[in-house]
Amino acid sequence: MSSKPPAAVSERALVLGMDVGGTTIKAEISDDAGTVLAAGAVPTPPGEAAFDAMLDLGDSLLDELSAADRSRIERAAVLLPGLVDSVRSIAVFSSNVGWRNVTIGSRFTDRWQVPVLIDHDVAAAGWAEWRFGAGRDRDTVCVIVIGTGISGTLSVAGKFVRGALGQAGEYGHIPVRHDGMLCPCGNIGCVETVASAANIARTYALRTGTECRSAATVFARSDTDPQARAVIADAMDALADGLTGVIHAVCPELIVLGGGLAGAGAALTDALHQALTARLRVVPVPEVAIGAFGPRAGLAGAALLARHGALS
Ligand SMILES: [Zn+2]
Repeated sequence: MSSKPPAAVSERALVLGMDVGGTTIKAEISDDAGTVLAAGAVPTPPGEAAFDAMLDLGDSLLDELSAADRSRIERAAVLLPGLVDSVRSIAVFSSNVGWRNVTIGSRFTDRWQVPVLIDHDVAAAGWAEWRFGAGRDRDTVCVIVIGTGISGTLSVAGKFVRGALGQAGEYGHIPVRHDGMLCPCGNIGCVETVASAANIARTYALRTGTECRSAATVFARSDTDPQARAVIADAMDALADGLTGVIHAVCPELIVLGGGLAGAGAALTDALHQALTARLRVVPVPEVAIGAFGPRAGLAGAALLARHGALS
């Protein structure tokens, strides 16, 4: 990252934050205190049409503001899934939405008439959890977002790690089960083939012969159902196996769990902490906590990125 990050916006500034997911595009205009002045969401159209939907959603929120408030908008940030080249402003690839090498250039800035940053959705959400959420004031933190897939961020000794492609923390694609399931990435037995929300639900359904559509159901049953507890323990064992390498390498003091599965609370954090305790002999077992922003981590990350100007 050679380019100098832009300075923070002024205290009176409003910012537009947008989080583009595989199914929904969400956006908010907020002030310095986090108060939301306008908010909206639209379904994500497939392919490059998604960019028109982003522009239109931004327009509609900006139109809701008074002229005085509209003039307070100093910057926007748009978070995209997949691979994002934030320096050259290119949406490199998204398998979920279906775009490849879309040059964003100035299309947002031209339309909204404010500087617009783009970045990777999980990177911004994880950075927000580290700097302003559950990882606040901690120097070495893994944030892991568990939903349809599993990925996250890594901060080491007070620095947010961006890695070679501007991204780091692909915890979900660490192979941990050599006789496991084929992962969509092409490897066998990746962490997310066992521990993603969808695969927790699927494994429980297979083991019990009952229908189970969501991991939340498995966690809800874990107090009374030993099968549910066993499926959760397997999932957290796989995640712990995947994390042991990075834990030995950088000694995180805290692991923050976010994403859809984080609603499970202590049933999730206790299971992961137990699995880590069973594995770690040389390095201390990190604390495990639930993210502070919950399912809003993406929108919070977008607003905070717009406000601060860089993930740093
Ligand atoms: Zn994989």
